[in-house]
Amino acid sequence: MERRSAEPFKIKTVEALAMLSRQEREEALKKAGYNTFLIDSSDVYIDLLTDSGTSAMSDRQWGALMMGDEAYAGSKSWKRLEKAVRDVYGYKHVLPTHQGRGAENILSQLKIKHGDYVPGNMYFTTTRAHQELNGASFVDIIIDEAHDPTLEHPFKGNIDLKKLENLIYEVGAEKIPYICVAVTVNMAGGQPVSMKNLREVYHFCKSLGIDVMFDATRCVENAYFIKEREKGYENKSVSNILKEMFSYSDGCTMSGKKDCLVNIGGFLAMNDDELYARSRELVVVYEGMPSYGGMAGRDMEAMAQGIYESVDDHYIAHRIGQVRYLGQQLIDQGVPIVRPIGGHAVYLDAKEFLPHLQLEEFPAQALAAALYLDSGVRAMERGIVSAGRDQKTGQHNKPKLELVRLTIPRRVYTNNHMDVAADSVLSLFQKRHAINGLKMVYEPPALRFFNARFSPVKSKLINEET
Ligand SMILES: *Cc1c(COP(=O)(O)O)cnc(C)c1O
Repeated sequence: MERRSAEPFKIKTVEALAMLSRQEREEALKKAGYNTFLIDSSDVYIDLLTDSGTSAMSDRQWGALMMGDEAYAGSKSWKRLEKAVRDVYGYKHVLPTHQGRGAENILSQLKIKHGDYVPGNMYFTTTRAHQELNGASFVDIIIDEAHDPTLEHPFKGNIDLKKLENLIYEVGAEKIPYICVAVTVNMAGGQPVSMKNLREVYHFCKSLGIDVMFDATRCVENAYFIKEREKGYENKSVSNILKEMFSYSDGCTMSGKKDCLVNIGGFLAMNDDELYARSRELVVVYEGMPSYGGMAGRDMEAMAQGIYESVDDHYIAHRIGQVRYLGQQLIDQGVPIVRPIGGHAVYLDAKEFLPHLQLEEFPAQALAAALYLDSGVRAMERGIVSAGRDQKTGQHNKPKLELVRLTIPRRVYTNNHMDVAADSVLSLFQKRHAINGLKMVYEPPALRFFNARFSPVKSKLINEET
């Protein structure tokens, strides 16, 4: 008999959830223009929109908040955060920022010159935006396998060294201020990078004088996948694996809103003394004094504590296990999802799920809306709506992947909530032919996915049962 396991924590405070009737959900969905971004959180039962800033803090973190030292200079809380980053990640210098993009801004301004190239393993929206604002071009050097949603590969986040070599050959190493390595790769579905790949990339880059900067946002989840999948690491602690990962980098940007288990905050970290000195000057302009940057003392306390908790082997095993628990139920019932299941989310393949819909009928948007209507579970479209229009032709950008993302917040929901989400997806899968497409009735000029409004192409989103 396979023994079942449970959450490695118990519940001390509870927050009531909205339990709307189907009629009420139908009204809420109409009011939101069939866009899950526009649904009020008070109308949502299980919120799987994002894992960003949605973590539950522990009793120790809430306790740490009271210990916050709000001194303008030389705060004790800053020292505690610095120590946590040194202990767990191993970097020498740390600058707190208001969130991950604050760190990206400072790093990009300091290192990029106009006409540079920044290679990376798939883009992330804010990261690429800061690189481009400073005059660099982003170049995707992730392995080809990352672009195929059905292909099983243990480390789909890996960098293709051939692609990196080719870029260096074309533009020259002096045009590459640093390489940005995301661990794990959000846009590829939370897919990890192997230790072997990190080691090879680092040694190769260093031999050419190119710095390696991590986007460390989900680094603990990456470390856990290495423990599970890479030979030689099965008996090491996640904390040891993490230390080795960071030894193959010169610094990182971090969004504390994900793996650091807090609701706001981030940091820029590095080993180089000179880069640190220059960063201190810039952080004053954009964030605050170097000893608090973009964060309150109490928030630095909570993040320091969260950093230690995030590398607890039981916590991270449960975290990854819960995402897999949801995904595996869907795989077992034949629901098309991105494989293998990643670290922070399960992605439904809406093109396969709703093959009767044209791409212009926004299958992923329709599926996310149908999921909310069916059960009050909120997910996010990641497909043709998110991809926007081509600036030149005015046509829809047509991304290869048309996905609905079910993102699992950390320590917030139990596996019973995962069962409810799985049941709802399965019930929709059984009646998938009854799900109709959408037409866009309001389209904002920029980042349209946040505010676009839709209505069903037929009289109802889901045809009545006969
Ligand atoms: C969230 C995120 C960021 C940006 O961090 P914010 O805290 O939202 O500013 C950068 N990279 C990745 C991979 C992310 O998921």
